[in-house]
Amino acid sequence: MSQERDATPPGDTPAAAADRLVTPGADGDERALESALRPRSLDEFIGQERVREQLSLVLEAARGRGRASDHVLLCGPPGLGKTTLAMIIAAEMSAPLRVTSGPAIQHAGDLAAVLSSLADGEVLFLDEIHRMARPAEEMLYMAMEDFRVDVVVGKGPGATAIPLDLPPFTLVGATTRAGLLPSPLRDRFGFTAQLDLYQTEEIEQVLTRSARLLEVDLRRDGGGEIARRSRGTPRVANRLLRRVRDFAEVRANRVVTGPVATAALEVYEVDEQGLDRLDRAVLGALVRLFGGGPVGLSTLAVAVGEESETVEEVAEPFLVRAGLLARTPRGRVATAHAYRHLGLAPPRAGVPGGGVPEGSGGPGLFDLADGTG
Ligand code: ADP
Repeated sequence: MSQERDATPPGDTPAAAADRLVTPGADGDERALESALRPRSLDEFIGQERVREQLSLVLEAARGRGRASDHVLLCGPPGLGKTTLAMIIAAEMSAPLRVTSGPAIQHAGDLAAVLSSLADGEVLFLDEIHRMARPAEEMLYMAMEDFRVDVVVGKGPGATAIPLDLPPFTLVGATTRAGLLPSPLRDRFGFTAQLDLYQTEEIEQVLTRSARLLEVDLRRDGGGEIARRSRGTPRVANRLLRRVRDFAEVRANRVVTGPVATAALEVYEVDEQGLDRLDRAVLGALVRLFGGGPVGLSTLAVAVGEESETVEEVAEPFLVRAGLLARTPRGRVATAHAYRHLGLAPPRAGVPGGGVPEGSGGPGLFDLADGTG
């Protein structure tokens, strides 16, 4: 398998969030550790039943026809298995895999170089496809549809386009932000899969499998405890498992029981719902500084000393799903559940979950200054 990655692969952890135990992105070292835990076939892939079934039909049909599979778009938050699925697609098609990413493709020429070197039937995994340069995107349309690119040679009036035929290939695009993809690009994928956060029981299965591979003595209650704090994300689950394993080796006779997992995760400041310090800071700021909201994203990010992108992509998806934060057209709002989670009494019932205190009606100073939300 050939690899083609830029220095800081997208989907990777923004620097400010890199030291968070519950960040769903991964850095290079972690990706190396992860490769040992990746399921190698659709059968081994846990959860996402519908996606698995649909994808297995797509692949089986393609195999039956003896052709490269349709292009596949994988959407969903980091850490849910997009890269894993791309590798599985290649493996199930017995095809080589090429890996690259949107930010590595800054010019149409970068893409032309990748495309023109593909082998017949090769699977091209394009991570964070929404971050690819526009001119490359247009080249990709034609490559996906007609297996052809026009390579432009020269500049200005003398420039000529040389058509180049490509072998049939399968593009597997991955994105955390499907909404940012232009629709002509989205439409050229024959199959689009939306990956959702995993159920706790599915995460328990991921942990059981990982514990077996890592030779960790993980007891049932230990697995349950870690799963509940894993934010529905296999990557986070595997990471917490490694930290709990350290704790168990040093302080608990190597056996991971429920109480051992609880004690370990308390040391790492991951609370019983999987919230860490940043999540609690976001909720705390929302409730204590902004009266529960609504407040614009960038204002909230400044209040906790993070990039807006980190708050939006790392903390919020989980806070929203946990029913702690709501995104409204006027800004972020804390729910009643958020107040309770922080040990505070919720304000009188009002908006989603009863969260917005009465009287915070019109856009506040921060919203106006912010313009986002
Ligand atoms: P993404 O590309 O979406 O960020 P990855 O495919 O890199 O996520 O998955 C992150 C880690 O989680 C990998 O180590 C992988 O083994 C594990 N993982 C993801 N999905 C599953 C799954 N369905 N079953 C078991 N392990 C999984």
